[in-house]
Amino acid sequence: MSFRSPQVLSRRGFCICCAVAVGFSSNGGWLKPTQAFAEARNTVDAIRDAAATAPVRLHKLRGNVTVIEGSGGNIAVLTGADGKLFIDAGITVTRPRILEAVNSLSRDPIKHLINTHWHFDHTDGNQWLNEEGAAILAHENTHKHLLSAQRVEDWDFNFPTSPLAAVPTAVFSSEKTININHSTLNLKHYGPAHTDGDISITFAEADILHCGDTYWNAIYPFIDYSTGGNIDGMIKAAEANIAAAGSKTIVIPGHNLPGHASPVSNKAELMVFRDMLVAIRENVAKLKRQGHSLDEVVAAKPTAEFDARWGQFLITPAFFTKLVYEGV
Ligand SMILES: [Zn+2]
Repeated sequence: MSFRSPQVLSRRGFCICCAVAVGFSSNGGWLKPTQAFAEARNTVDAIRDAAATAPVRLHKLRGNVTVIEGSGGNIAVLTGADGKLFIDAGITVTRPRILEAVNSLSRDPIKHLINTHWHFDHTDGNQWLNEEGAAILAHENTHKHLLSAQRVEDWDFNFPTSPLAAVPTAVFSSEKTININHSTLNLKHYGPAHTDGDISITFAEADILHCGDTYWNAIYPFIDYSTGGNIDGMIKAAEANIAAAGSKTIVIPGHNLPGHASPVSNKAELMVFRDMLVAIRENVAKLKRQGHSLDEVVAAKPTAEFDARWGQFLITPAFFTKLVYEGV
């Protein structure tokens, strides 16, 4: 989620930025689990509302690849004579601003869309992009989740079946290579990680890696157990991202802390993210093995040494502790 405005009010009157800040200033920086989980339930509304007001920002990377920030998950666009290719579709409400932004890059029609996974902040715009002319490609599990109603337990949110125009028409299971606009794109399924349908996309010539939501830069990541994600899979995906990146690779995270000059990242930061996941997983697993309840584990602050860097936005330390606890 890329919130550009300092205060974001949801339809339910929830201000996610303020709530996080308040949570940190009281009770030694911690919300009670019940408070934190109540916040999490408003995440979907908060993301939609943020996209409604957030500026859409373009960041040109290399080799005709540009990142669009401000419409849910980070979108990558490849321009060229074969037509524009989008990686992820963002939130529908930003359609006019995204069109204006990508028209400023080139006049190539929109022809291709790849979804990194099924979550609404990456696929909500599928329908309008399809109407513009994009054929949609995704992992077979992403296709499955978009074809039927989904419940995400940890967001306490039910998503309806997607309209047919929003459903991918081409799927793959393990790996796929495509050549578009003189670029070689390698698509690879991570296995269960953030969901069960996450894929990485590598632009070989430009040396750019889009990680989808297996990588959140400077934010604790969400893990969707309802559709097949788990903490150990997130750690495996982080390892795969590190292995796929070289010292010069531009790494696109699914989400990043807003307010930075650029949303992109690199291999060194991927390693810091992996180390954070591994350390917190071990801290939480040890406490759970000792027989502690979720509330007791949250109270023990197993993320404390990482909260200053990772726990300041969207996914609170208590909420992330719960997500790890579920999987160990
Ligand atoms: Zn996601």
